[in-house]
Amino acid sequence: MAEPGAEFLISGGTGYVPEDGLSGAQLLGAGDGLTYNDFLILPGYIDFTSDQVDLTSALTKKIRLKTPLVSSPMDTVTEANMAIAMALMGGIGFIHHNCTPEFQANQVRRVKKYEQGFITDPVVMSPRDRVRDVFEAKARHGFCGIPITDSGKLGGKLVGIISSRDIDFLTQEKHDLPLAEVMTRREDLVVAPADITLKEANEILQRSKKGKLPIVNEDDQLVAIIARTDLKKNRDYPLASKDSRKQLLCGAAIGTHEDDKYRLDLLAQAGVDAVVLDSSQGNSIFQIHMIQHIKEKYPDLQVIGGNVVTAAQAKNLIDAGVDALRVGMGSGSICITQEAAPKIPPDIKSLSPKLPSTVSGSFMLAVGRPQATAVYKVAEYARRFGVPVIADGGIQTVGHIVKALALGASTVMMGSLLAATSEAPGEYFFTDGVRLKKYRGMGSVDAMDKHVGSQSRYFSESDKIKVAQGVSGAVQDKGSIHKFVPYLIAGIQHGCQDIGAKSLTQLRVMMYAGELKFERRTLCAQMEGGVHGLHSYEKRLF
Ligand code: IMP
Repeated sequence: MAEPGAEFLISGGTGYVPEDGLSGAQLLGAGDGLTYNDFLILPGYIDFTSDQVDLTSALTKKIRLKTPLVSSPMDTVTEANMAIAMALMGGIGFIHHNCTPEFQANQVRRVKKYEQGFITDPVVMSPRDRVRDVFEAKARHGFCGIPITDSGKLGGKLVGIISSRDIDFLTQEKHDLPLAEVMTRREDLVVAPADITLKEANEILQRSKKGKLPIVNEDDQLVAIIARTDLKKNRDYPLASKDSRKQLLCGAAIGTHEDDKYRLDLLAQAGVDAVVLDSSQGNSIFQIHMIQHIKEKYPDLQVIGGNVVTAAQAKNLIDAGVDALRVGMGSGSICITQEAAPKIPPDIKSLSPKLPSTVSGSFMLAVGRPQATAVYKVAEYARRFGVPVIADGGIQTVGHIVKALALGASTVMMGSLLAATSEAPGEYFFTDGVRLKKYRGMGSVDAMDKHVGSQSRYFSESDKIKVAQGVSGAVQDKGSIHKFVPYLIAGIQHGCQDIGAKSLTQLRVMMYAGELKFERRTLCAQMEGGVHGLHSYEKRLF
């Protein structure tokens, strides 16, 4: 009689491991379009800690980022504050173009001129402003210590500074006094020259025991201030994305119309590092002409084409000379390009939080591609030409980021995930006790009514009737990017560790070698993968 357990013995011992899972090509070559939720990555072998995982990746042919995260050029996501925070964390932000060319270029300038600790857009007052204006500013901004210039603006001649100590004991009837009568005057101020380093400024502030240090140029005009409170919370940003002159990297979006050439000129003068041609369907003669124009006029400027979802679309833009491709059509959380008003079966609706419960009706534009398939197909083609891919839209979780990178994307672009952080444009508001910020599609009627920049992404000038391709909604407060992005970074590193990839480069090598294994997920598997069987729970992510 055979020994107990003998039926499990296989000749060759543990050397034999059966084939398991699907390669990327097998998973995505089968025909059906897949979303990030339709599959999982099988775990590998871990012989390193997660903080050792190197997330360096290419944004474009010439720009590499230490964090593969990009904020979307949307007017509720990226202006200067978001772009600064993203660049400090090792990613990059693309300033939206639903605004005048001058406003957009100014936002880019703010990012390029940003120096940690230097406030280059401080609140400034004039000697003719009143004491009550300072109290108002204090209530609004929560600080005092306001520089006074002859013009009442940055760039005016510095004539004094007003701080709490100057006004704290003034009685009510003195609140109408002009600041000229109560401010600390120029001759009593400690100031610093414009070429001062942060370290020197820090020393001056410590010696002088003042709260604010005005920075002036050789004509005594105010160019910035440094606040003691900021210096105290100064942090190091070892991952920061910087150019060769140590300025933060900044991107911006433009359209493909004739007047976008003027916008492009202003952005180039402001020092923009990369422009993204913002079209929902980028495979067009207009985009090809614009790429050629930019490459001719600004050969060093990195140009990102898109959006595309097929290799055939990508080919035309690669031939025209793009430095990266933006991939995604119809996957954005606010997007109704594939189906302007879909009917969704209730079981799928519960799995897909992006779909508002109020949508119903019939299919409309019918064009697009599920995002996982789009990313794989385009990246697999574009890598042969050294063109990196940005997976744009549909990122709802850190797991989706890992999946996008595992399918060949070099970076991911996010809208809703970064919306409602304190660095996103717009004010917070409360609905039913929940703190929210507005988030809207650039093809929503709401955004298109604001400016032509948004319309140009979704319509040609000759379109008489607008067909909305996006919705306008709200997203719950996520706090600061300075906390949220580190959570995303740590999550991506953990994902790579589970896979057994010590870097994003290795992750891609594994995928194209067929070593990275995937598995399809049924609807039941998706439900099993979510929280289930609990009466109630609280979802705190970091
Ligand atoms: P999210 O990260 O899923 O919110 O998607 C953001 C992406 O959706 C953006 O980067 C754009 O590519 C895309 N997008 C922005 N506005 C619209 C719109 O109105 N309709 C369709 N797609 C949009």
